[in-house]
Amino acid sequence: MNDLNNLFQNNQHWAEAIKAEDPAFFEKLAKQQEPEYLWIGCADSRVPANEIVGLLPGDLFVHRNIANCVVHTDLNCLSVIFYAVQVLKVKHIIVCGHYGCGGVQAATVNQQFGLVDHWVRNVRDVYSQHLEELQSITDDKQRVDRLCELNVHQQVNHVSYIPAIQNAWASGQPLAIHGCIYGIKDGLLKQITDTISCIDQVAEEYQVTS
Ligand code: ZN
Repeated sequence: MNDLNNLFQNNQHWAEAIKAEDPAFFEKLAKQQEPEYLWIGCADSRVPANEIVGLLPGDLFVHRNIANCVVHTDLNCLSVIFYAVQVLKVKHIIVCGHYGCGGVQAATVNQQFGLVDHWVRNVRDVYSQHLEELQSITDDKQRVDRLCELNVHQQVNHVSYIPAIQNAWASGQPLAIHGCIYGIKDGLLKQITDTISCIDQVAEEYQVTS
């Protein structure tokens, strides 16, 4: 018996349900994608991008990694952002963290976890930048949750530092960067950063011109 039988069955039901609503849905989608949003989220299985915001295939361009990091040397993430902005012309980039993130939690303890330590180091740097505030929080879970928020702020800033983003603004392309956090306990999403939609909102030392 195929271990994936359940998944194939689910897939058939899902495709049929969508076609029942809109018989031409997949035909239209096969021609092109025109998503308005790029979602940069955590790889955590409890934070599925489309489902959380009630969007169908074709509505959301998605990149996910551990602890929703945007690292300026990560060719994978940078390629996704470049394609989303330059080719798909998305109007919004959403960096979405979540409370109780395991990747963020790993950055708060003095312990090795293996290869992932190199990636978690990106969050550990955020932890280090806000050490005083974070060490003043005595409850471990609350401290992790606060770092989850601070990490979203940092990754939103990282998006705004990318030359392709700044070039889009310079050419008059509407593009807004938002930072959100998702509560696994209640299923609710909220915005926690100011929206960045122009170069003037970027720290001067990170402003670059082509
Ligand atoms: Zn996570």
